[in-house]
Amino acid sequence: VSIADVDLIAAQSAFEKARSIVLACHVNPDGDALGSMLALLLGLTKRYPDKYIEAVSHDGVPDIYEFLPAAGQIKSRASAETFDLAIALDSGDVKRTGDQVFPVFAKSLSRMDIDHHVGDGAFGDVRLLDSKAAATAEIVFDLLGHLGINIDTDIATCLLTGVITDTGSFRFMNVTPRTLRTAATLIEAGATPSLIAERVFDNRTFPGTKLLGLCLSTLQICSSGHITYASVKHEHFAETDTLDQDTEGFINFVRSIRGSEVAILFREFELGTVRISLRSTERVDVARIANQFNGGGHKMAAGCTYYGALVDAQAAILEAVSAALPPS
Ligand code: 5GP
Ligand code: MN
Repeated sequence: VSIADVDLIAAQSAFEKARSIVLACHVNPDGDALGSMLALLLGLTKRYPDKYIEAVSHDGVPDIYEFLPAAGQIKSRASAETFDLAIALDSGDVKRTGDQVFPVFAKSLSRMDIDHHVGDGAFGDVRLLDSKAAATAEIVFDLLGHLGINIDTDIATCLLTGVITDTGSFRFMNVTPRTLRTAATLIEAGATPSLIAERVFDNRTFPGTKLLGLCLSTLQICSSGHITYASVKHEHFAETDTLDQDTEGFINFVRSIRGSEVAILFREFELGTVRISLRSTERVDVARIANQFNGGGHKMAAGCTYYGALVDAQAAILEAVSAALPPS
């Protein structure tokens, strides 16, 4: 357990004091954001049946995560302006809970930050922060253990989904013995990794797969092959009648090219707004690059938004990435 006991005790007392609790995750939620939030929702509801507890995802639940237990209970807007306790999970920065949800944090009586992104965005009266955790789900696992909440099959499924998605199915550098021990316990508790993998990774729609083809047709390589990038243009979404959520996993094709040090995916779902995903090998800190564009993330996986035309986004990001590449 890497969260200090004093912080776990503080978290427990915050739960006990609060009568109303809102949980929130980041915009464009991924498996860890949703899985860790739902596991905490299920656990707290079981432990404190008399409290009012709700979970909010500003951008709802992408189709591939609808199988998560209790996903149907997630709201896209908070039902009140203020709660006794507002908790952000996996968000990096409380502002990333989204325009509609973030104000609730300012108005609520107390705040809690549960995250494995540990940077300038840390906030709250109680902070359960652990940069060594591969997923926020690992922190929630420890928290539920501290609270004496039994991990049932539903909670285990939510947590294992967070661990599997944030570790790239146990392939990324964030995987530790603790990650595998946690995963083993979750499987013992009833989670089925093959089922999660099937729902999350082998569940691309036909139009979504056509979209992948269009995206890969834009693939480019530069800086002696150290930078690889691809774009999903606005017209690609229109042509295939797809959504931004259909680009889940596209960055992995760009990242897995031999010799690539930095992989970039540009997504222009709305004209004038370009979402950028950055992935790197150990040699480049892409969180620093994303920071230059008011984004953030981890050293090897980060993201940001560029407001402007796709070509301008590409020029600006490629310049920043080239500048960050160590001389070879
Ligand atoms: P993705 O490329 O999958 O959207 O994001 C990769 C990582 O960067 C995730 O850890 C995510 O939380 C973080 N991230 C992505 N976009 C943003 C952003 O706009 N702001 C911040 N602070 N973090 C981001
Ligand atoms: Mn995460």
